[in-house]
Amino acid sequence: MNTLGNFIDGQIVASNSGRVGAVFNPATGEQTKQVCLSSADETRSAIESAQQAFKTWSKVTPLNRARVMFKFKALLEQHADELAELITSEHGKVFSDAKGELTRGLEVVEFACGIPHLQKGEHSLNVGRGVDSMSLMQPLGVCAGIAPFNFPAMVPMWMFPVAIACGNTFVMKPSEKDPSTPLRLAELLKEAGLPDGVFNVVNGDKESVDVLLTDERVQAVSFVGSTPIAEYIYSTASAHGKRVQALGGAKNHMVVMPDADPEQVVGSLMGAAYGSAGERCMAISVAVCVGDEVADKLVARMSEEIDTMRVGPGMGLAEEAHMGPVISREHAAKVKGYITQGIEEGATLVRDGREFVYAGNENGYFVGPTLFDNVKRGMKVYEEEIFGPVLCVVRADSYEQAVEMINEHEYGNGTAIFTRDGDTARQFCEEIQVGMVGVNVPIPVPMAFHSFGGWKRSLFGPLHMHGPDGVRFYTRMKTVTARWPTGLRAGAEFSMPTMK
Ligand code: NAD
Repeated sequence: MNTLGNFIDGQIVASNSGRVGAVFNPATGEQTKQVCLSSADETRSAIESAQQAFKTWSKVTPLNRARVMFKFKALLEQHADELAELITSEHGKVFSDAKGELTRGLEVVEFACGIPHLQKGEHSLNVGRGVDSMSLMQPLGVCAGIAPFNFPAMVPMWMFPVAIACGNTFVMKPSEKDPSTPLRLAELLKEAGLPDGVFNVVNGDKESVDVLLTDERVQAVSFVGSTPIAEYIYSTASAHGKRVQALGGAKNHMVVMPDADPEQVVGSLMGAAYGSAGERCMAISVAVCVGDEVADKLVARMSEEIDTMRVGPGMGLAEEAHMGPVISREHAAKVKGYITQGIEEGATLVRDGREFVYAGNENGYFVGPTLFDNVKRGMKVYEEEIFGPVLCVVRADSYEQAVEMINEHEYGNGTAIFTRDGDTARQFCEEIQVGMVGVNVPIPVPMAFHSFGGWKRSLFGPLHMHGPDGVRFYTRMKTVTARWPTGLRAGAEFSMPTMK
């Protein structure tokens, strides 16, 4: 069995921790590989490699750092099919969706290509007579990234391209469920000319993560994953003096107003709820219909559409499936458990994905598209993140009630409103307590040159990922005030200095 190791100091290195995790093909349920679960010492050796590389990488000029990113972008394009196949084979999402994920990651690399401009800092001439001020944006040192299973390429690429372009070095800890893609990205970075040690990959679990959170050489930690772990990462790494951005779970609501275009709503909702089997942090898992008439029509049309969905393996079919399996046997069982619980809690099950089996792949981790109507606040299927192909329809009496339920939900990652009324849309954008908002856009993931992040228990830490916040997160500001001979004052000043 192929055992995946680490990428440290520019080399693939086997682990001797004696611990491994199994990697499966979710479409078949077969174990295809295993991945090392690194020891604390192995994790420390990756940090040391990054620490050494920082001494020279931080001195490389911004243009030359950008040039590595330009070459990396070209290599990503060249290897897009190969990378997407890797993603599909370990994650299960359909091939075109894997390519879409790769594109969204590549866009952050394109953003990072602009680093000479982004990291210029600020300069003020003559803040006093003969006195100039400049703010420098300097790299931090060794940064660490910890990623979830659901975007094995995109989420790491939310982090390391910006970090490295800013002059930092990086240790990436991928999800142990689909670890191959980040290792391949490390090889491509090397091929793009990145010096050894600047980007390292450590495969592992809590043992490795805890080293990254506590080792004094690590300056900053970026995390994406579930809320309980995000909270743990934030509190532990902060207590060890690091800057942290920890993105957590989600329950994203789409408000459907009576004046919305019904077919636009159905098309958008199908993709947003069931794309990637609902395993997206920006998936819509709750449709809030304002008025019973809207709900009745939506449920009827969604049911028709669900009946035409193709569910199957992510690759190898004559006509691509709309939706693949979920990540693991345990996760499939958990999602089905939520569906059973929803029935017990009194929601109306309109379409039931629990019994779905893909003929020929009976051991694949498939869950069919599931639709609940009459879901109410307080039910577990409403309050908790299911992270599967389960859409809950909630009926609201008014726009105000819809907004109140979203604002009172513990998560605040993404949301959307579908309406043709500009005033309602504008009011929604202003008053909704959520970090990313769509107006007739179901999955409002910001482009790479804006920043990505939620509110409430979907994000711990003040700064979002990539875009301007990403550059701020991975740089430390230093402000220099310089006086030249024309401005020099004679004698000592004992009162608080002010500019004259
Ligand atoms: P997870 O929290 O189980 O794991 C994420 C990472 O944390 C993995 O690398 C894992 O090895 C590590 N980890 C797990 N348990 C740990 C522990 N006890 N101590 C230290 N490290 C630990 O998440 P997942 O199941 O891989 O991913 C799905 C979750 O990620 C969902 O909740 C989803 O909403 C969330 N997510 C959020 C965003 C966002 O932008 N907010 C994006 C993608 C995914």
